[in-house]
Amino acid sequence: MKVLKFGGTSVGSAQRMNEVADIILDGEKKIVVLSAMSGTTNTLVEISDYLYKKNSVGANEVINNLERKYFNTIEELYSTQAYKDEAKKIIKANFDYIRSFTKDLFTLFEEKVVLAQGELMSTAMFNLFLLEKGVKSALIPALEYARTDKNGEPDPVYIREKITALLEQDPDQDIYITQGYICRNAYGEIDNLQRGGSDYSASLIGAAIDAAEIQIWTDIDGMHNNDPRFVEGTTPVRQLHFEEAAELAYFGAKILHPTCITPAKLSNIPVRLLNTMEPSAPGTLISNETEMKKIKAVAAKDGITSIKIKSGRMLMAYGFMRKVFEIFESYQTPVDMVTTSEVGVSLTIDNKRHLPEILDELKKFGTVTVDEDMVIICVVGDLDWQNLGFEASVIDALKNIPVRMISYGGSNYNISLLVKAKDKKMALQALSDNVFNN
Ligand code: ADP
Ligand code: ASP
Ligand code: MG
Repeated sequence: MKVLKFGGTSVGSAQRMNEVADIILDGEKKIVVLSAMSGTTNTLVEISDYLYKKNSVGANEVINNLERKYFNTIEELYSTQAYKDEAKKIIKANFDYIRSFTKDLFTLFEEKVVLAQGELMSTAMFNLFLLEKGVKSALIPALEYARTDKNGEPDPVYIREKITALLEQDPDQDIYITQGYICRNAYGEIDNLQRGGSDYSASLIGAAIDAAEIQIWTDIDGMHNNDPRFVEGTTPVRQLHFEEAAELAYFGAKILHPTCITPAKLSNIPVRLLNTMEPSAPGTLISNETEMKKIKAVAAKDGITSIKIKSGRMLMAYGFMRKVFEIFESYQTPVDMVTTSEVGVSLTIDNKRHLPEILDELKKFGTVTVDEDMVIICVVGDLDWQNLGFEASVIDALKNIPVRMISYGGSNYNISLLVKAKDKKMALQALSDNVFNN
């Protein structure tokens, strides 16, 4: 069975939902993972913000506007009055539930419950839409199988056991619809897989059911060779290795959630990125194969802080690196890039939550310098060190841009460069102009 995930834009209107139905109704049994309709999760975040601020008037205004939008979509989506009424009844219950939080204290747990309503509503509406069409379709509730452990990581054993049981209980459906993004945590509370996490859900489900393929349907024809939001003239990459796609996702290619490739890679399930607006376009196939000796794509990761620790004592001092990294470990702060010299080490983090404490501790070992508002530019391809000229072409492309750090050799698939946020667009464009389009 295949798993097909449709993102927010793909289910963002009645018209789009019709297009999704055309794509999925091909006679093959499948699991369909849906995001919330586009804009909904952002609006639910806005509502939560009003609720934290105890502004129930503000919250109610946004809730009512969003509810009106859903009712308009319902009017357009269904053809019979009975289904319109049924859909409105379901959606009104979701909105009444959100409204119930305007009366009381608002906690982090409740914010997650509010955010979960987006995927609960899109899936309920779409399932009803298929039922009206006479399709054998059923919902499999993510909150009954998707679960994270005490470290906040998805629990693949639990997911496999529960989803298999849910599918076996109801074997005669053609389409199984489920929510992306939402899950329960180790304590059974409603939680989520972070913004953009529906891709991750699809990959986890694919691994749990040993899917033949995982398809991520979105609003663009696959992974482009550069970020189309910042660079003109980007083109689709038709084939990527799991490792290449994982690097691109982690380092900012928004088309994929940062960790979504991992479950597919571990289970060796191909992932195909496809365009809902142009279903016949070939998209991108991500698998164990790749085109060799080629730079494939560039991505950028924002919000990076670099930290340099310079110590006279590093000279010959084994144990220095361990001490430095232990500090980051004790504050559960992942390190992305690392470069070293005889007198010091530079590294980058994207989570600044414990930065003050980390800096305090690092100062025991040497002189510490911090640069904020940095961006990692990640160049991905078959960059094995035996292949000549790739590093040179990347560095040559960036010859007019100040580069704070360069990291190469950590894998065969990536060169990372750290630049100032204000130089990001120029750096991405320079790489497109000199590496892809020359
Ligand atoms: P969805 O809502 O379907 O999950 P997203 O907005 O999360 O869609 O991801 C698709 C968007 O990712 C595209 O519209 C595009 O602007 C952006 N994007 C960023 N980098 C890339 C890239 N390298 N290739 C393709 N799309 C990219
Ligand atoms: N609806 C969630 C979000 O907007 C999850 C997703 O779309 O993947 O972040
Ligand atoms: Mg997305």
